[in-house]
Amino acid sequence: MILETGSPERVGFVVDKLGVEYPLPQALLRSNPAEIPGHTEQEVVRHYVRLSQMSYGVDTGMVPLGSCTMKYNPKVELRALELTEGHHPLENEETVQGIMEMLYLMQRWLAEITGTDECSLQPPAGAAGELSGLLIMKKYFDDRNEQRDEVLVADTAHGTNPATAGMLGKKVVYIRSNNEGLLDLELLKKVVSSRTMGLMLTNPNTLGLFEENILEIAKVVHSVGGLLYYDGANLNGILGIARPGDMGFDLVHLNLHKTFAVPHGGGGPGAGAICAKGDLVNYLPYPIVRKEGRRYVWFRPERSIGKIATFWGNVGNVAIAFSYILGLGPEGLRKVAEQSVLATNYLIAKLKGLNGLTLMAPHRPRKHEVVFSAVELAKRTGVTANDVAKALLDRGFYAPTIYFPPIVEEALMIEPTETEPIEVLDEFANALTDIVRQAFENPKPLQESPRNTSVGRVDNVKANHPSTITPSPRVKRLREKGLLGPLK
Ligand SMILES: *Cc1c(COP(=O)(O)O)cnc(C)c1O
Repeated sequence: MILETGSPERVGFVVDKLGVEYPLPQALLRSNPAEIPGHTEQEVVRHYVRLSQMSYGVDTGMVPLGSCTMKYNPKVELRALELTEGHHPLENEETVQGIMEMLYLMQRWLAEITGTDECSLQPPAGAAGELSGLLIMKKYFDDRNEQRDEVLVADTAHGTNPATAGMLGKKVVYIRSNNEGLLDLELLKKVVSSRTMGLMLTNPNTLGLFEENILEIAKVVHSVGGLLYYDGANLNGILGIARPGDMGFDLVHLNLHKTFAVPHGGGGPGAGAICAKGDLVNYLPYPIVRKEGRRYVWFRPERSIGKIATFWGNVGNVAIAFSYILGLGPEGLRKVAEQSVLATNYLIAKLKGLNGLTLMAPHRPRKHEVVFSAVELAKRTGVTANDVAKALLDRGFYAPTIYFPPIVEEALMIEPTETEPIEVLDEFANALTDIVRQAFENPKPLQESPRNTSVGRVDNVKANHPSTITPSPRVKRLREKGLLGPLK
């Protein structure tokens, strides 16, 4: 590792020699030299290129991570991102009219796509969109002097749904799915009451199944005065074809990083629009861009819940999604959904009937993703969904989402997306078929995989708990000198 190599006298580019004076005040300058290793430029380049080769991303291969939509990110979009650079969020409206026009159009487009009236581009993530949505519901009912303390959540929901409701101090009421993998309507009818603040739902749900009773579901929730929240983190299955607003949803969040091809992962920021219908528009987080004549102005809705991120939100990410939508147009967006649904059902056709993998409601077509259960495989061979995922890494693929949604035992949740060519889908299906066959013949190597990656199998417990992380010698030294705080 770079901290253990090199020697102090080695240098790359030296700024001092250019005669640059540091404008930093004396008090801020360090008194002893920084403990950074000495390397030539070439050594540094090799270090970072090697690191880049050790990681896997959608630019190197398929990332079939169900629910998370890891599609290819067209590179021209990064040019759109660059066009927003060089501006400060405290600039006067007059000097950022172009950026404001983009935000305004994006608000209009996303409202059109979701079938709502207005969107705020404030939330920096899907979870932040959910928090905005529930804060809006809360304030809306507070304004009406209605005490509602229950949030209904489907048992196929993403973990952020109950977590968000919990953050607001609301009681989470889970609604079981029926044998068809759909929300149990009869159960819903029994559970709704004047305590119901709302129902959070994803449609198509995380099993990739379209909630065909959605109009009836909306009626039931609205009949007790509750609101319908659409978790649209992943809209790939119905983009340009069906709209949450038309299904009866009152509030919708979207992840621009997912459906709208903004790169995500690696801890970087995302962007999630929050859209509302009717009176709820008055509660959206600010600022929203309004058009007055030919000018764009910042606007704060009257009953706004406030801000959910700093300044204007993640404008750079919005620019990426903006250019994605602009490039595809309405026809292209629709094609995204059609192709992603086709890719998923193609994979299902290739994998269905594979010994050891089972599909809930096998006769139902899926939308953009599919969940197989490896519970039979685990029982008969000892090879779990986790082992299958690791074995896929050895075969040059990223793993699908596993053990989610929690209602499917040994879940393998696969979302191929629309951007993978048929040859790659075939290779992926072949790799999975090969792994399952090998599980019956010789399971041991699968249970010890991955072997071909730069990091072998990690201990799941250790990997998740800070107290078990072994600090590097350098971190130890810094800690001894009191220059780094203890691990919390
Ligand atoms: C990804 C996802 C979320 C959360 O989005 P973040 O941007 O990770 O906060 C919520 N719901 C569903 C269905 C998702 O797939």
